[in-house]
This record gives sequence, structure tokens and C-alpha cells, in this order.
Amino acid sequence: MYVKKPTEDEYIVNGHDLNDIRNIIERRVCKAMQEILPVTLNYDGCKICTQDIYALSLKHLRPIYVQVGSIILQKTLKDEEIYEVVKESAEQVYKSPNHT
Ligand SMILES: [Zn+2]
Repeated sequence: MYVKKPTEDEYIVNGHDLNDIRNIIERRVCKAMQEILPVTLNYDGCKICTQDIYALSLKHLRPIYVQVGSIILQKTLKDEEIYEVVKESAEQVYKSPNHT
């Protein structure tokens, strides 16, 4: 199945914009990747591996969907847990990258 880039209007339901409902884990995974990947030994820096590590990490972390602009009182997921998942995902991708 070909996945195309979504357009904004595909997320409008009954006139309400659902683009503002975001998985807050995504940004935390990006932050962890920005810190971890440059210091891991086997990171080749390519787009495919970077995207695969991101997707694999998110697959292993339960999403937390919130309305943009809302206030999160308590982090239910520790940074350490996210870093651990990113590290494991990176190792897995380095072992069998989706390119030669
Ligand atoms: Zn690569």
C-alpha cells in the first residue's frame, strides 16, 4: 500500500481540525535520537536508517495523544525508557539496514 503525505483537510471532521491532536511521544523520540544517534558507533547518517529507527522506536512506545496547547502535569513515561527503546531500535536497524 502506498502511503501518501496527508493533506490538512483529510484531518477535518465535521469542520473540526484534528491535526491538533498529536502523539507527544513523537517529539520526545526525535529529541532522544538527536542526542543518541551521533554518538552511536554504527550510525551511517542516512535517511532510510534514521526513518526506520524513528518508526521502530514509536512502534515500541505506547502513544499519548493530546490536544496541542494542553498542559501535561506529569510525564507518565520516563526519558530513560525512551532512550532505551531508541538505543535498542538503532541497534536493530544497524544490524539489518533496509539498504545495501
Ligand atoms: Zn542507512
